Amino acid sequence: MKKIISAVLCITMLLSAFSLSVFASSERKTDCGTDCEFYPTIIIPGLGQSGVFVADENGEFVLDDEGKRISAFPAYIQIGEIIKEALFPALLSLVTQSDFGLSNALANVIESCFGINASDLNAQNTGNVILERYYKPYSECTEEEQTLINSHIPFHLYPTDLPKDHLYYFTYNSFGNHIDVTKELLDYIHMVMEQTGHSKINLVPISQGGTFANALFEYYPEVMDVLHKVLYIVPALDGSTIIGDVFNDRINFLNPDYLYNGFLENSGLLDKGTAKMIEVIARILPDDVLMKSLNKAVDVLVEKIMIRSTSMWALCPSGDYPTAAQMYLSDPEMANIKAQTDKYYQAQLNSDANIQKLLEKGVQVFNVAQYDYKMINVGETWNTQNADYIIHLDSTSMGAYAANVGETLPTDYVQKNTHCSNPDHNHISPDRVVDASAGLLPDTTFYFDGQRHDLTQHNDVILKIAMELIAHDDIKDVYSSPDFPQFNIGRDVRKLSALLETAETVDVSALSADEKAEFDAAVAQAENILNTTVCAAGDFEKAENRLSDILISIGAMEEEEVKDYSFFEKLAPWLYENFGSNGFSEMPRLSLNIIFEAIVRFINNIFA
Ligand SMILES: [Zn+2]
Ligand SMILES: [Zn+2]
Repeated sequence: MKKIISAVLCITMLLSAFSLSVFASSERKTDCGTDCEFYPTIIIPGLGQSGVFVADENGEFVLDDEGKRISAFPAYIQIGEIIKEALFPALLSLVTQSDFGLSNALANVIESCFGINASDLNAQNTGNVILERYYKPYSECTEEEQTLINSHIPFHLYPTDLPKDHLYYFTYNSFGNHIDVTKELLDYIHMVMEQTGHSKINLVPISQGGTFANALFEYYPEVMDVLHKVLYIVPALDGSTIIGDVFNDRINFLNPDYLYNGFLENSGLLDKGTAKMIEVIARILPDDVLMKSLNKAVDVLVEKIMIRSTSMWALCPSGDYPTAAQMYLSDPEMANIKAQTDKYYQAQLNSDANIQKLLEKGVQVFNVAQYDYKMINVGETWNTQNADYIIHLDSTSMGAYAANVGETLPTDYVQKNTHCSNPDHNHISPDRVVDASAGLLPDTTFYFDGQRHDLTQHNDVILKIAMELIAHDDIKDVYSSPDFPQFNIGRDVRKLSALLETAETVDVSALSADEKAEFDAAVAQAENILNTTVCAAGDFEKAENRLSDILISIGAMEEEEVKDYSFFEKLAPWLYENFGSNGFSEMPRLSLNIIFEAIVRFINNIFA
């Protein structure tokens, strides 16, 4: 018996030594070597913000023509393979105006592209991918690794006092196993404490990263004792209604009447002209062929990829989970997946309670939420509540109450004060859209009006708040600094920054006095707005337009060519009005019907 015990002990020790060695050596990686004035900070990035690359059977990177690694997120797209699979079925279907293998080919294409992110019935990934991991601080990352990190979150543009050997970037596969990733996150936290010699750390869960924070606090509540601060940035704490809609078969573009009349235009992905042009071109296929193809493609994506990914399930809002699980996970073969998603469902339901526990333990908790950007119209509920294009505000704000996008709270609306007990606090946004007092953290949640979720990393103010909060504790709440008020305006600094770069190349000696005066004023206005963190709605765009106008007028850059799509903008609605969702080949028959009906009506009128 003793022998067995000692053997077990031996194996246990070996295993634990092995698991430690995974995280390289235990040598200190910080200059401080122990608790100092800073806290090591772990970024848990959002969807697709980790490097996940295509690998071959031997675990080696597959390289493209330029010798670069190929991203596996969100899919592995091989144009050659797609053409091979779909070209002939597409041509035959076009020529015969029937489904000559097109819908199956499309389903196969989707399966082969997204198959790299497929999972088995235990929700374990089956595709050959390599996740780039950083078992070291940002300061020790290679230039290539830092470039990849900065492409997701531009740390290089926003200085922080936090020493770079205290900054860590946790990575994960967005389609990965949610329970495994959460355990990896826990191990990563311990590794960071070991490497830095610190006893407490900061966590920054961003977007999908919020789902792992939910799981971490539910499954490993002891981790709360080693946290100093949690800074949530647009966290998907209660998922996204996009996934809720998709997992409940409420998909907009599978409705032909919407597909041909407004879906593309309202998607926010295309300008109106391009959208209308595609609506017209789509009619080269009869609508039943197109719809059958789309339906099959969605079925493959949902049933073969999405519903086997527990990380995708973690993005399903708690209100949508029970019906979705009933629909997709009640089959006995899905039992292992359902056990895992049920477990996360509890974490999701307990999200607020667990954040409350953090506060009780003295952990500082901050949040950044965004509103007044219509949800992308993938799902049927897209326009029913306020959102930031990707996540509904209720999820990112921990339950704030808000009017829908484009609407305001009623004039007699009184602040709910669900979570604020200070009668002096006004938590209603200046535009009267959001009541932050109904959210869990009214005094430590920052709101950005009109900020699009997937462009969050280009909002300099959000980055500046984050850099300040991870380095210092001076900001206690939304009243601490006039530079960072509770309600602010969304912005994307890329265009203005590029315009300023162009402005630097201008030879001012060649300008007339009037031109120079306007040029100087426009540059000053642009610099000024980039140096301030508070501005009124529209001010940022005004600065952009002014600088852009003068740069064009002095010939420093060319005016953007505006393509004329007015033909399609007229044709597409006309086609919809007269022919519904039918393809071109179905139109003559319909035209005859219309003429025939007109004749019948005419004759009826005569004899009436
Ligand atoms: Zn330190
Ligand atoms: Zn308050």
